[in-house]
Amino acid sequence: MVIERIQRRLMAAAPGGREAIVSQIIIRALLIVFLMAALVAVFVWVAARKSDDLSIDRQQHVIATVLEQSFRTIAHDQEAATVWDDSVVALRTKPRDLKWLDDNLGIWFHTYYGHDEIFIVDQDDRPVYAMREGRRRDADEYGRSAGTVAAPLIAELRAKMRGGVKTARASSVLTPGAIDLGTVHGHPAIISVKPVVTDTGEIPQTPGTEYFHISIRYLDGSFIADLARRYQLEGGHFAPAPPDDEDISRVPLRTRAGNVIGYFVWIPFRPGTAMLGQVTPALVISLLLVFGTIGWLLYRISRSTLQLSAARSQAQHLADHDPLTGLANRALFDRRLNQELSRLGGGRSLALLYVDLDHFKNVNDHLGHPTGDLLICALARVLNSVAPGDLVARLGGDEFAIVHVGDNAARSGERLARKIHKALARPVDLGHGEVLIGASIGLSVAPADGTDPVELVRRADIALYDAKHGGRRRHSFFTEAMGDRIRERNEIERELREAMRTGDGLSVVYQPFFAAQGGAALGAEALIRWNHETRGPIPPDTFVPIAEECGLIETLNEWVLEQACFAAARWPAGSVAVNLSAVQLRNVTLAERVYAILKRTRLSPGRLELEITESSFLESSEKCRSNLGWLRDIGIRIALDDFGTGYSSFKHLGGLDIDRIKIDRSFVATIQPGVGGSPVVQAIVDLARISGLTTTAEGIETEQQRLYLTSIGCDVLQGFLLAAPMSASDVEARFSGRQGADPA
Ligand code: C2E
Ligand code: MG
Ligand code: MG
Repeated sequence: MVIERIQRRLMAAAPGGREAIVSQIIIRALLIVFLMAALVAVFVWVAARKSDDLSIDRQQHVIATVLEQSFRTIAHDQEAATVWDDSVVALRTKPRDLKWLDDNLGIWFHTYYGHDEIFIVDQDDRPVYAMREGRRRDADEYGRSAGTVAAPLIAELRAKMRGGVKTARASSVLTPGAIDLGTVHGHPAIISVKPVVTDTGEIPQTPGTEYFHISIRYLDGSFIADLARRYQLEGGHFAPAPPDDEDISRVPLRTRAGNVIGYFVWIPFRPGTAMLGQVTPALVISLLLVFGTIGWLLYRISRSTLQLSAARSQAQHLADHDPLTGLANRALFDRRLNQELSRLGGGRSLALLYVDLDHFKNVNDHLGHPTGDLLICALARVLNSVAPGDLVARLGGDEFAIVHVGDNAARSGERLARKIHKALARPVDLGHGEVLIGASIGLSVAPADGTDPVELVRRADIALYDAKHGGRRRHSFFTEAMGDRIRERNEIERELREAMRTGDGLSVVYQPFFAAQGGAALGAEALIRWNHETRGPIPPDTFVPIAEECGLIETLNEWVLEQACFAAARWPAGSVAVNLSAVQLRNVTLAERVYAILKRTRLSPGRLELEITESSFLESSEKCRSNLGWLRDIGIRIALDDFGTGYSSFKHLGGLDIDRIKIDRSFVATIQPGVGGSPVVQAIVDLARISGLTTTAEGIETEQQRLYLTSIGCDVLQGFLLAAPMSASDVEARFSGRQGADPA
């Protein structure tokens, strides 16, 4: 349960915060275990203390009892020789046999029982015998020694004896006695008085006239040492004053009057502490083991969970990001766009920027895909740096998107677009060289353009289309008019497909071109026409780019090529020029296809000229170059159309597989009355001549243009002044010399 919860928490956490959670969990778990261990330790300690206290209480009680019993033992010892006919007789016999008394009532008690002093007093309480520390002493010693402390005991016993006190036969005590504690010779001592009586009862004795045997045992001597040894009491000894140390146990030794004469002290046995001493190392080791095991387990669980979550994050990251740039991919972009749109409100708006590299294909084709990838990464870096807080996504190819949210997203989004253009105005470093790239940007804004993500994306795409077609390196905001244009474009696309399927409305016209010198008709350029049944004539400048975009151009152009070759084959002379598009140039089968058409239409390759645009040529790759090589090898001529409108520079011309340059009509248009000639046109013609190329000037509308172009050495002329596009049969008639064509 707990582990599952931990795992769930880890999964839910942000990847960066997971390590912190793991350390938190481990610290908490160890803290809990530590607290539990501390609690157990406190319990054990309290229990040990309790058991110590109980044990000490018990020891004190036992010791007090033992002391009391030991006192009685002395009295009991005395009975061994005091309840004995021989002793009575020995004491009554005079002179007394002191040797006998030593052996039976005096020194013997010292050697056998350890009694320290023995005195015997007669019926008048006079001392008749004295022994101290194993040596018989003068009887008078009694007065200096035990006389004072023994006197009250003697009096008490005398009174008892006189009263005829008898002990029960069953009792272990044979005779009455008097016992007390007191100080003798400076020693705390037990003083026990016993009567010397007959054991058989055969010696008559007047009660109260007995000899009394007084035994003294010092408590600070062997007595207590023996006691301590017997009961295994550590450090047991007599102390005149209570010890300061509370941990030392003591039992006060009181006289019957209640006076404390000293203490029996010892170091108490503490079973709890002893047990603690024994189990603590084991306990500590066990706890450490438990600590370690729990810590280790948690660490392992957390680690595996971390690894799992890292793997999941990694998988999630891969699922959500573009591997090349690390940017969000389309899936994440869609999700985030949806989220941001659903959160809009409070005056906030969202700008969606669609960013597309200009001429990315050129880079890919000319510099190779690895360089193309570097370029994509460079653009990704630029976008990330200009829009650090926004979602930047790569939607595929060279297509990027930025989701930008702000208080006035239209304005800040436009600022962002400008920043992108500005950043791209500087050459981008690709590691092994710098390239200059541009991007077109389309913007749509929510909620102004709606809050439906699909619609918003569509509108940004339309705006991008507009930006691209408006001249690249531009940005455009979506407008409804754009939408209309797109709709119309889509309509045209649909209708073009239909026209191509049925052939309705499509036709080819031919615009002748002539030798500048002499004016002989040299051939005609095939130009497609589409006469829509409701829209009327649609100019090729409108539908050709659409056909290129939607992949119809190859079919369309091949149809034109076939028509043109078929028509030219009927002409008695002259060549036919056909426009090619970039898509065709990239197709490796181009030469094969053209050759097949020539065969089918029976037109000699020498009568066909193919026009490629400057830009399509620039976009061309190695494939295109080899295509051109093949075509030229079979005798087809190649013309570079619309020269001057693209980016090619003169220095490239020399190495190109082309035969002719067609000077774009925009240059020809600059040749105006009053202005004189055009130095640019003049330069183009000169350069072409130097490069071994012929020149055609297109779009000649005035006589002045014709004269000027002829004068500067332009080879071929084409334009409304000379002939407008016409039908194939009109061209045929013109070549046959039957009919001419007027300018349109
Ligand atoms: P282009 O290849 O440069 O064709 C010449 C264009 O200039 C033709 O326009 C022609 O009618 C026009 N033109 C000829 N003389 C004059 C003149 O004196 N003044 C002016 N202002 N224009 C003149 P068109 O037929 O409208 O074609 C436009 C463009 O469409 C062509 O330019 C060519 O790029 C493209 N195009 C036409 N037919 C085809 C085709 O079959 N295939 C492909 N791929 N493109 C075609
Ligand atoms: Mg042309
Ligand atoms: Mg042209």
